[in-house]
Amino acid sequence: MRPGSTQAGLIQRDRERLWHPYAPASPDLPLWEVEAADGVRLRLRGEDGECHEVVDAMSSWWSAIHGYRHPVLDAAAKRQLDNFSHVMFGGLTHAPAVELAEHLVEMAPAAAGRPGLERVFLADSGSVAVEVALKLAVQFQTACGRPSRQRFLSIRGGYHGDTFAAMGVCDPVDGMHSAFPGLLAGNVFAPRPPAAASATTEAVQAWATEVAALAEEHHEGLAAIIVEPVLQGAGGMYSYPAECLRELRLTADRFGLLLIFDEIATGFGRTGELFAAGHAGVVPDIMCVGKALTGGYLSLAAMLCTAGVAATVSNSEAGALLHGPTFMGNPLACAVANASLGLIGDGGWRTDVARISSGLESGLAPAGELGAVRDVRTIGAVGVIELHDAVDVTAVTAAAVRRGVWVRPFRNLVYTMPPYISTAADIAQATAGMVGAVTEVHEAGAHDLAVAGRGGAA
Ligand code: PMP
Repeated sequence: MRPGSTQAGLIQRDRERLWHPYAPASPDLPLWEVEAADGVRLRLRGEDGECHEVVDAMSSWWSAIHGYRHPVLDAAAKRQLDNFSHVMFGGLTHAPAVELAEHLVEMAPAAAGRPGLERVFLADSGSVAVEVALKLAVQFQTACGRPSRQRFLSIRGGYHGDTFAAMGVCDPVDGMHSAFPGLLAGNVFAPRPPAAASATTEAVQAWATEVAALAEEHHEGLAAIIVEPVLQGAGGMYSYPAECLRELRLTADRFGLLLIFDEIATGFGRTGELFAAGHAGVVPDIMCVGKALTGGYLSLAAMLCTAGVAATVSNSEAGALLHGPTFMGNPLACAVANASLGLIGDGGWRTDVARISSGLESGLAPAGELGAVRDVRTIGAVGVIELHDAVDVTAVTAAAVRRGVWVRPFRNLVYTMPPYISTAADIAQATAGMVGAVTEVHEAGAHDLAVAGRGGAA
């Protein structure tokens, strides 16, 4: 902070210079300054100068699963910092990257009789990992003598990132297609699978038949199927039956499509399995991970694929996977990721996620009684209050902060995915704050929804 400046001064300086996610360059949006972060708690300072210690119910958008300032992650970062922070990855390698690739391959979904995921591309963010996955699929099809296969089959309600190819496979209506009509490819979208809570075998079968029909109709132009397995995040915190993944595997195999699972949000235990693919015992040909990979410390993501896909592209006329970012395999990020995967490797996450899941279920249940609430649901360590109408993001966020909870609602959803280290008391505080904030803002009846809408949902 500049000498003599105040919190309001810092926030004002931010407003004059910075963009925030999915926000206008506007002076009007409320901001809090983070003064400190430790364990599951953030110390926030509001514009009025008031200080709030809050439980972070968002894990900084799915990433900080072990909480802030974790001693093991801090030590790993410091160790690597004392060695070297970054080197280019072209023509050079280093232990943190090699160990991370080995770690990821070892953890990746596996099933008897199906090739595993054995080859790793380290990318700098989730969106980039998705770009690389899509590129790889197209290059694979070209290498197989099918150069017309340049498009993708996805499902409605998906979200895969903000870069162009990734946006192109996001939901075509709720995503950003309308803003960039000339730039987003004409991908094919199947309906959203039936909701997990109410799906019948017949509904799943009817959906699978529709997907297969679309694949049959378009397969000569399709390289791959891409989905977020079991839980669609930013597209609506919507969960669907694992059985649908088995159907997608069958359809992909039948029509020569690769199957890509975007596990960027769902990976590393969040839904109750190490990867959401594990709910179905399905192994994709390509998988993307990110977010929690470094425990929320640094930006890093990875794309994993089978040895067969990697060999086909490598032995093709192109002779290489055509991607290579400057910060590929950043050693500092890889070292922290290794430490984070080490913590996951002790298996404690499974009990933590189950414990948090039941805490969320009981803590959020009272929201089901509210008139403004359409649905309350929990999947793994994710809890959702879905309203009938758009959330007043500004008012609900402020009301939750006053109750000692940090949430970032979007559209009609107030949701939480707490750090795995959250105690029963933390979860009780988070859920009570969410229910209290929704009650205060949306049950009063007279409240004018001045600022309703997006809020951002990375
Ligand atoms: N895929 C999914 C499922 C995501 O939730 C996100 C995060 N918004 C992304 C891709 C993009 O990741 P990133 O924000 O790191 O680019």
